Amino acid sequence: MSRRDVFDVAVVGAGVVGAAAALAFARDGFDVALVESREPARWQPQQPDLRVYAFAPDNAQLLAGLGVWPDILRSRAQPYRRMRVWDAAGGSDLVFDADAFGRRELGWIVEHGLLVDRLWQALPMAGVRLYCPGQVIGLEQDAQSASLELAHGERVRARLVIAADGADSPLRTLVGIDVSAHDYGQRGLVAYIDTEQPHEATCWQRFLPGGPVAVLPCVSPNGSAPSASAHRSSIVWTVPHAEAERLLAADDAGFARAFEAAFGARLGRVTTASARAAFPFQRQLARTHVAGRVVLVGDAAHVVHPLAGQGVNLGLRDISSLRTALTPPGTGSEPVSRSRLAAWGRQRRSENVLSAYAFDGLNRLFSNDAFLPTLLRGPLLAASGRVPAMAHALWRHAAGV
Ligand SMILES: Cc1cc2nc3c(=O)[nH]c(=O)nc-3n(C[C@H](O)[C@H](O)[C@H](O)COP(=O)(O)OP(=O)(O)OC[C@H]3O[C@@H](n4cnc5c(N)ncnc54)[C@H](O)[C@@H]3O)c2cc1C
Repeated sequence: MSRRDVFDVAVVGAGVVGAAAALAFARDGFDVALVESREPARWQPQQPDLRVYAFAPDNAQLLAGLGVWPDILRSRAQPYRRMRVWDAAGGSDLVFDADAFGRRELGWIVEHGLLVDRLWQALPMAGVRLYCPGQVIGLEQDAQSASLELAHGERVRARLVIAADGADSPLRTLVGIDVSAHDYGQRGLVAYIDTEQPHEATCWQRFLPGGPVAVLPCVSPNGSAPSASAHRSSIVWTVPHAEAERLLAADDAGFARAFEAAFGARLGRVTTASARAAFPFQRQLARTHVAGRVVLVGDAAHVVHPLAGQGVNLGLRDISSLRTALTPPGTGSEPVSRSRLAAWGRQRRSENVLSAYAFDGLNRLFSNDAFLPTLLRGPLLAASGRVPAMAHALWRHAAGV
């Protein structure tokens, strides 16, 4: 039997979470297969990806350990040193400042396409066997392994299958794991804008009754280095569905004026700098993260409201903790212990459920113009800002440090 007849690990889905998983387990010495239905387009600096992430320090460390983070920083990533959150109904700002935490930055704003590109480029050197285009259409499991059936008739067998195949995870359906889901009735409108005043390397978030407006600092186009005095930002504007339709259809000037009003003109006049896209928001939690030799990670396991910028960050934390649950090759022991997988699944599920409901609570409290929540919000933000230990604890949780 060739070594490749049974892989140690097969990852399904090569978005940020799946590609990072494949690279991490290959670097740990496992024999890894990666199945992805669509090869991503190469990242082009002249065509910024509309999807950007607020990337947390613990995950930057993960990618640094995998050898891809320095190139991401060199290519394009904007460090942010401050976060400023306030409520349109009044009250003071809640501010998180890197200086107060003794750090150079709180995190980075990075394009989805750049992350995926750099992870994919590292896969061949790490020895990952790529099946692309490869679409999983069937799954069988026995006591020793799981076997994936691909659309073109190929089979991939592995001791552990990691489902990183996104919110609609076909693998989750194949293993029969149910989800609880909630539609927020909101969409996130994303675009690039230029603001009259510089972004100050700050993430800005203003809460409105329809949902929060976030402005995330970016590197200026034309290959400049990251700077606090740049004027280019990415926005995530959370609005009810009907409002999203109206804003997508608006002309550039109309959209810019509507955005200035929603953002309270905090950075002066706004001009649009890209096309716009909108993504529906939902909370979706798998009932379990483990079924036999299949584990769910990333959006396949949990989809959370993006108001805290944690979706991909939680997914990468699934991977970091799964690494510690497997026995490294060469020790003579079976890499996958059922009891350790079960413990990993319980621990990750409880953390992910807690995060999902915390973001849910924030969204309900702030995306609301009822009298009582409106009355509570200002003092709540002010108290969080005035008590440094509280601000520190909130930030440490989001940053994973
Ligand atoms: C507007 C918006 C803003 C956001 N902002 C942030 C942020 O600031 N910070 C943050 O951390 N998160 C953010 N998120 C969340 C983040 O986008 C997701 O959590 C993240 O993309 C999930 O990554 P994933 O790799 O788990 O899934 P995906 O990116 O969905 O990847 C799944 C992959 O699986 C493949 N696939 C699917 N089915 C199959 C199959 N049968 N066979 C083979 N391959 C298959 C797909 O082609 C795809 O490549 C945001 C989300 C939205 C909508």
